[in-house]
Amino acid sequence: MKVILVGGGIVGISTAYYLLRSGHEVVVVDGSDLLDGCSFGNAGMVVPSHIVPLASPGMIARGIRWMFRSDSPFFIKPRLSADLLRWGWQFYRHSNHRHVQRAAPALKALSLLSKNLYCALAAELPFAFGYTERGLLMLYRSAEAEQEEAEAARFANALGLEARVLSAGQVQQLEPHVAVSVRGGVYYPGDAHLVPHKLMQQWIPYLAERGVRFISGEEVQDFKVKAGRIVCVCTEKQELTADEVVLSAGAWSGNVARRLGINIPMQAGKGYSFLTGHNTLPVTIPAILLEDRVAVTPMGDEVRLGGTMEITGLDLQINMKRVHAIARAIPRYYPKAQINFPPPETVWSGLRPCPPDGLPYIGRTRRYKNLVLATGHAMMGLSLAPATGKLVSQIINGEETAVPVDPFSPDRF
Ligand SMILES: Cc1cc2nc3c(=O)[nH]c(=O)nc-3n(C[C@H](O)[C@H](O)[C@H](O)COP(=O)(O)OP(=O)(O)OC[C@H]3O[C@@H](n4cnc5c(N)ncnc54)[C@H](O)[C@@H]3O)c2cc1C
Repeated sequence: MKVILVGGGIVGISTAYYLLRSGHEVVVVDGSDLLDGCSFGNAGMVVPSHIVPLASPGMIARGIRWMFRSDSPFFIKPRLSADLLRWGWQFYRHSNHRHVQRAAPALKALSLLSKNLYCALAAELPFAFGYTERGLLMLYRSAEAEQEEAEAARFANALGLEARVLSAGQVQQLEPHVAVSVRGGVYYPGDAHLVPHKLMQQWIPYLAERGVRFISGEEVQDFKVKAGRIVCVCTEKQELTADEVVLSAGAWSGNVARRLGINIPMQAGKGYSFLTGHNTLPVTIPAILLEDRVAVTPMGDEVRLGGTMEITGLDLQINMKRVHAIARAIPRYYPKAQINFPPPETVWSGLRPCPPDGLPYIGRTRRYKNLVLATGHAMMGLSLAPATGKLVSQIINGEETAVPVDPFSPDRF
């Protein structure tokens, strides 16, 4: 079959890989130059530990507190937008224990599938992308965060995911090359990390050499539909016929879906990252600095620092105040590491595709017989991409899916 993918971020690229392996003709259409999107500059964490969706108890109160600080890691730009109001209402409705209890097993199954696939990809792809299984440290300085993380660790262990609550001394033993000043931490030994730009920069040419056609710099603007099927995908320059269409347009997917009359609530969650030398912060295990929501990931000779979630629309503008807050957080946890403020031209920004309930959209919709959605992975798109690609290929092949996709139904709102 000829399958057209709208969007070539990590989700589209993973999907192209598994579709190609199933023998399909694959075309990836992307409005960008495919050099620097959200799938390139992220923190590179592969996180089976993240089984609690963003919409969870406590998030609303914490979010409101953060809203009033100009350098906080979270911000919603108040604006009169019906989409934002609907999204906010759904977020509020899902921020409860019942939703977490329902969502966690589904996220766990998807995450573990994805991690196993990354492990296989590291062996089968003929290029290295820094895939390393060294776990993840959730580090905290306050009693409040300690209590929350201990609860999260209990929840993870009850679901069969290993989580170890560590004292400050035990954290220091795990990171012998850098002084750590924390109250304690939770260690998830099952997590992994990789270098996302290395993966993207090599996977795209690898697929192109094997027959995947990439059309970059052309936005999909419209579709032609006949008898419940999408027959044509239209860019400003051409019309491409399709047997199957995959919508993997990241944060823009809500707008693209609207052109097909499909409602998938989505907001862009902007985040920033920048690199610093590994010698300035010689960590060996990725970490999340909880009070500041900063991600720290060793990537070869460098360390990537990332953070911030700004719900400010489809806008990539960089707010240096929040970037400086990322740099300022580092010595609070690693007192000997002084990170210079990065020059603005070295700061990267990306838009996470965020559904209000924290679960991705994966699967077919009622409306079209030949459309599969693969989007909305929010803070876990890199982590969950191989599983999503595999599931989409199984759906298109008419096979049983490796894990149930009902919880991710695009028709759920
Ligand atoms: C600071 C930061 C840190 C992060 N850290 C992590 C992490 O450690 N682990 C993790 O798992 N995730 C992380 N994420 C999230 C992760 O980066 C995203 O979830 C993921 O990149 C989304 O991938 P995607 O393929 O869905 O979207 P994208 O990478 O955004 O790709 C979508 C593509 O669709 C294209 N497109 C849009 N509209 C159209 C159209 N109309 N026609 C054609 N093309 C179109 C775009 O040009 C784009 O290339 C992080 C994100 C940020 C911002």
